[in-house]
Amino acid sequence: MRIGVLALQGAFREHRLMLESLGAETKEIRLPEHLDDLDGLIIPGGESTTVGKLAVEFGLMEQLRRLARSGFPMWGTCAGLILLAKDVGREQPLIGGLDIVVERNAFGRQVDSFETMLNVPALAEVSDTTPPVPFPGVFIRAPIVREAGPDVEVLARLEDGRIVAVRQGKLLGTAFHPELSGDERFHRYFLKLIHSAD
Ligand code: GLN
Repeated sequence: MRIGVLALQGAFREHRLMLESLGAETKEIRLPEHLDDLDGLIIPGGESTTVGKLAVEFGLMEQLRRLARSGFPMWGTCAGLILLAKDVGREQPLIGGLDIVVERNAFGRQVDSFETMLNVPALAEVSDTTPPVPFPGVFIRAPIVREAGPDVEVLARLEDGRIVAVRQGKLLGTAFHPELSGDERFHRYFLKLIHSAD
């Protein structure tokens, strides 16, 4: 299985390391021709405005938009989730594909970054225990999902109810950084999603 990791800016190396530890082949994506021969694609965290602008500049944006709407497996973490949203309440280049409205930097300056345990029932299929042990959510200037459309499955919420992980078909979005958590279950979940029937 070969997974592309968009490598224009941000936390792409950590995703590669985690995927490779699970036996997947990885490929850094910087140009449109790099998108051939992939089974899935990760849009990592970073700064979503910068990544979006670079994707336009490098000629990647149209192809990314097509892929996200074609049922191709894609996973956005943090800035990647922002890029997969349909609306973020301001003008910036987006990939879209997920029927969600996102708020950037939703935790403000005072709690820039934090870690919290998340209950993610969907991880049961890649966990050794039932119910799955909580997942360590690493949030760094993170967004939240303000609205999710009817086809969007909510995978995780904060204790106050705010949505931080979603799936729609083979598009996955997490407001946090599983590649920095030391827990590889979200990466396993994505690899399984690639091969799932729906
Ligand atoms: N705050 C960033 C943005 O709005 C996202 C942060 C991250 O990816 N860790 O694009």
